[in-house]
Amino acid sequence: MMAEYIERESLIREIISNMASFIGTSDEVQKHDEQCNYAISCIEDALSADVVPMRYGQWIYHDDGVFTCSECGNAESSDSCYCSYCGAKMDGGIAMNERQILGRAISFYGSEIQRVIAIEELSELQKELCKSLRSGADRPHIAEEIADVQIMLEQIMMLYECHEDVAIWRHKKVKRLLERLIHDGGIGNINDG
Ligand SMILES: [Zn+2]
Repeated sequence: MMAEYIERESLIREIISNMASFIGTSDEVQKHDEQCNYAISCIEDALSADVVPMRYGQWIYHDDGVFTCSECGNAESSDSCYCSYCGAKMDGGIAMNERQILGRAISFYGSEIQRVIAIEELSELQKELCKSLRSGADRPHIAEEIADVQIMLEQIMMLYECHEDVAIWRHKKVKRLLERLIHDGGIGNINDG
């Protein structure tokens, strides 16, 4: 790369000295200069195109807090702008899965704040449901609020480490609901609705 760079530099110098030593009428000199300048700009363009051989990549986040380069696999402890091994520009962001992002939110903002936000999001959904009873359903808004609540519920489950318990309770509760529906005649009634 470096040798090639120097070769092109000397090529440009040669064209310039040829320009200086060209003899002819002023029109001929002008024409010659134009051609030489065009040749130089072509060489310069080619130079700038591959003197900076930019690679692009993204950091892949791992659970142990290590980031690895998507281009060369180099592991680093922080998400710097460039990979120190292959030089890739890390403008692709950080690849994290949803669980990692939510976990990072809890550790970065703190569990207290995330619980406050959970309470806020729950009341946002409450408000949206109340509005839908009063003035009709605003589906996009309700969907957005449900997503917010789900994200916060996921974080709450992570905080209390209770995914398994929640799943067990959920199963029990749905089963109980089915029993109640059968008891109340809500199942097997072909005339419902
Ligand atoms: Zn790299």
